[in-house]
Amino acid sequence: MQMKTMPLGRITILWTLPLKTESFQPVKQSIVTLDMEGVLTPEIWIAVSEKTGIKELRLTTRDVPDYDVLMQGRLKILDQYGLKLSDIQEVIGTLGLLDGALDFLRELRSITQVLILSDTFEQFAQPLLRQLEWPTLFCHRLQVENDRIMGYQIRVTEQKQRTVIALRGLNYHVIAAGDSFNDTAMLAAANVGLFFRAPEAIKKQFPQFKALETYPDLIRSIKSALF
Ligand SMILES: [Mg+2]
Repeated sequence: MQMKTMPLGRITILWTLPLKTESFQPVKQSIVTLDMEGVLTPEIWIAVSEKTGIKELRLTTRDVPDYDVLMQGRLKILDQYGLKLSDIQEVIGTLGLLDGALDFLRELRSITQVLILSDTFEQFAQPLLRQLEWPTLFCHRLQVENDRIMGYQIRVTEQKQRTVIALRGLNYHVIAAGDSFNDTAMLAAANVGLFFRAPEAIKKQFPQFKALETYPDLIRSIKSALF
């Protein structure tokens, strides 16, 4: 009887040892979450506005804090002007990255893990992701029928903030950077939240976040915040 239980007992002890003794010490690791538009790429909707001459499409999350109000307004305008998904994709195809964005992202990805958290859509993001050398992106999805954008679907509400909270639950030290209203909940949820090229009005409203204007300054602040 004793002979049979001994091996089992030994296995149990071996399996539980790392979790039950003080020698098991979880290690905290760093990860960076970045907004995309305004931080690495131009604002897609502003580019569409310029290309089409439709001024109302210039509004972004910088102007309208409620994302659903903003998106419903955009979809209505697209319908009014008969703009299809392929029209917008054509514009996105002509967009380059912000000056210095690729070098910044390359350096950042060589020293830590990076996630791009954006309120853009899968159908819009691809040409930009290619230029950014395919970082991991969490974003939304458009509902499209015969090239007409019917609506949009989100996986979860408040995905930027919830992603940061989830990462912290996995023992990550999260450093987040963004430029707009839709980033402030993410910045607040992170261990370190940074503004990058945010408009003055937004910086004033959220003075708790350090505001940076250049990639060298941003990467310096991120490096000094790494765990
Ligand atoms: Mg942005």
